[in-house]
Amino acid sequence: MNSPPSSFHLLAKPAGARCNLACDYCFFLSKDRLYPGSDLRMSDAVLEEYIRQYIESQQVPMATIAWQGGEPTLMGIDFFRRSVELAEKYRKPGMQIQHTIQTNGTTLNDEWCSFFRENRFLVGLSLDGPRKLHDKYRRDRRGKPTFEKVMVGLDLLKKHGVDFNILATVHRANAGRPLDVYRFFRDEAEARFIQFIPIVERDNDTGFQEGDSVTKRSVRPEEYGSFLCSIFDEWVRNDVGEVFVQLFDAALAAWAGAPAGLCIFAPTCGDALALEHNGDLYSCDHYVEPGYLLGNIMETPMSELAGSERQRRFGRDKYDRLSQQCRLCDVGFACRGGCPRNRFTSTAKGESGLNYLCAAYLGFFRHIDEPMKTMAGLLEQDREPAGIVQQYRREQAELEAAFVRAGRNDPCPCGSGRKFKRCHG
Ligand code: SF4
Ligand code: SF4
Repeated sequence: MNSPPSSFHLLAKPAGARCNLACDYCFFLSKDRLYPGSDLRMSDAVLEEYIRQYIESQQVPMATIAWQGGEPTLMGIDFFRRSVELAEKYRKPGMQIQHTIQTNGTTLNDEWCSFFRENRFLVGLSLDGPRKLHDKYRRDRRGKPTFEKVMVGLDLLKKHGVDFNILATVHRANAGRPLDVYRFFRDEAEARFIQFIPIVERDNDTGFQEGDSVTKRSVRPEEYGSFLCSIFDEWVRNDVGEVFVQLFDAALAAWAGAPAGLCIFAPTCGDALALEHNGDLYSCDHYVEPGYLLGNIMETPMSELAGSERQRRFGRDKYDRLSQQCRLCDVGFACRGGCPRNRFTSTAKGESGLNYLCAAYLGFFRHIDEPMKTMAGLLEQDREPAGIVQQYRREQAELEAAFVRAGRNDPCPCGSGRKFKRCHG
C-alpha cells in the first residue's frame, strides 16, 4: 500500500443527491439511482466516523469539513450542530477546523445564518447571474424560478455577516453575457469571492462520464474562453485585490511558479474525494459512479482508501494520459490539460484525450499572459498584485492627456498609425 496523503480534500454529501430544486443541468440528481430504496440521509454513525477519520487523517494544521449535495441543508440544522460538536470532539490540539457548505440558498433563514456565523462557516451560494440568466436553468421541482428565494438567502447571509462566496455555472444561457454576470456579482450581490464552473454535460442516459456529445445547455468552448477574457479584462483593470476570482488566482499561481490552487490546473489530481451519505468513498465529486467507488469508510479506513494504489493511479493518470498536443502546448504550464472528465475530444492529429474546453483555455491563457507576467513580477518584488490596477489607471490618464494634446494632423495617440483627425479625432 502507498502511504496515505498527508492531507486531502473531501466533499461530503449528507443528503446524497436529494435536492429541493431540479436545475436542468445538475449532474448529481441522477446519482440517487446508485442507492435505490435509500432514504439518502447520513446516519449519526457515518457522520461520526467521517469526522473522526477525516480529522485523524489530516497531517496538517487545518482540516476543512466540507458539505455539498444535492442540497445539504435538507438534513436540518441539528445535523450540522452535531457535526460541529463532533469536529470539536476529535479536533487535534492546535488544529484549526474550517466548516464549509455549498447551498442553493433557498432554504436559508435567520436561524441557519446565525448558526453559520456563530460557527464561522464559509457558505458557497449557487447563483448564475441576474434574474433572467439565473432562472433559465435553476428551477424548482415544479419548474418555478428560484432567483427571488436565492436573493433572500443572500441578504440573510449578509445581514448576519456570514462569509460567503458565489459559485456560478457558465452555460449556453449566460456565457454570452460575461460583464452582466460579473458586475451583478460584484456590484449587486457584493460578492468578494467568485467561482466559475463551466457546464459540460455529457449527453447520455447514465449521468456518468461517458460518450463524446454534450447537451445543448453545455457551454461552447470558444464562448467560455471569451467569457473568461472579458471578465478578466474588467477585473484586472479595476478589482484585483478587492474581488477574488478563483480561476484567476489559480492562473496567477501558475505564472508565479506556485502550486495550482485548483485541481483542474494541477499536473496530477486525486486529492479531492467525495463521500456519499452511507460512507461510500469515490475518487472525485465528478466521478461518483460505480467504476470509481474506492470502498466504504465503515469497513476500510478512509486514509487507506485515499492512499490506495487505485486512487493514486487515478491522480497520476491526469498527467500520464496527457495528449502530445498538451505536452507541447505553450500554455500547458497553466492548463495542464484541464480536468480529465472533459477530455473526450481529439487533437488535430487525431489523438484522443483532448479537453473539450481546449479552445477556451488556449484563448484565455494566451490572452492573460502580459498582465499575469506583470502581477507575477510584482509578487516577486514582494508587492501586491493589486498594484497592476494603479498601473492601468496611470496609463489611462496618460492616454487621455495625449488625446487632449493631440493636433489634428498628429499621429493618433491610440497607436493606430493614422492621423488623429482620421482616427479618434
Ligand atoms: S477528476 Fe477533475 S475535478 Fe476530479 S480531482 Fe481530478 S482534476 Fe479535479
Ligand atoms: S490549452 Fe489545450 S492543448 Fe494546451 S494544455 Fe490546455 S487542453 Fe492541452
